Amino acid sequence: MYVEGYRMGELNDSIVAVENLNVSFLSDGQRLPVLRDINMEVRKGERVGIVGESGSGKSTLANAIMGLLDSPPAVHESGAIRFKNEKVGPTLKEGGNRFRGRGVSMVFQEPLVSLNPVYTVGFQLMESLSVKDPGVTQKGRRKEALKRIVRTLADMNIENPEGILEKYPHQLSGGMRQRVAIASALLQEPELLIMDEPTTGLDALVQLKIISLIEKIRRETGVSLLIITHDISVAAQLCDRIYVMYAGRVLESGPAEEIIERPMHPYTKTLMSSIP
Ligand code: ADP
Ligand code: MG
Repeated sequence: MYVEGYRMGELNDSIVAVENLNVSFLSDGQRLPVLRDINMEVRKGERVGIVGESGSGKSTLANAIMGLLDSPPAVHESGAIRFKNEKVGPTLKEGGNRFRGRGVSMVFQEPLVSLNPVYTVGFQLMESLSVKDPGVTQKGRRKEALKRIVRTLADMNIENPEGILEKYPHQLSGGMRQRVAIASALLQEPELLIMDEPTTGLDALVQLKIISLIEKIRRETGVSLLIITHDISVAAQLCDRIYVMYAGRVLESGPAEEIIERPMHPYTKTLMSSIP
């Protein structure tokens, strides 16, 4: 399959590729198709956006990539998910997240999925760090681990990072929780960071701060990004390449400036007109 002139999987710099993926949800004995023949790819260093209105299947796609769909109700009808050209899905792995510590981390749409409400921030960040480096929580290395956690929180522009380690997620503001969730994902040293609606539900000013934080992360770490958002202006600011989804399908894809300036599909044109 061709996407803007290159063959998927042909280049060695593919990080995640989804091929002809079909997913349905079982509901009252019926199969409701939610992802229909999805093809998409993120290559090394790319910032890819998935935009589309609520209900179009964006979160389901991200969860399918991660191996986090509950089955049932989700049924993987067909297709492939590849990590660096190697087939890893769509079938689920025992225990969920197929990428735990192996290259792809995700910041979830629901803050309380990214951060467990019953554990402190410090405890959860230590957990994230130990995904990649299981020995890091041992006594002799705790200081080093804490230092790394504090430095990562400071990188997220959190003032006084030591001050939030003993706090629980609900004691933080929405913007602060999002920064901690991003820190948690980055401590797993992913090659690809998936962020589902990273600015949704935040005040306008906080949204801008999160966008500039994501830009900074990209600049300073070179991590590849998959940004999922219903807000086309967020994708316009952050992404090199955009896929437009509607009713479970990819309607069109291409370089961000082309999609924004010369949308082909009538639905995309309507989406574009919503940019202030
Ligand atoms: P988006 O993230 O674009 O808003 P979702 O992927 O969350 O869309 O949802 C796509 C469709 O799948 C919606 O119609 C939603 O109702 C349905 N859906 C999502 N999760 C489930 C589930 N666990 N069981 C049944 N239907 C679901
Ligand atoms: Mg969603």
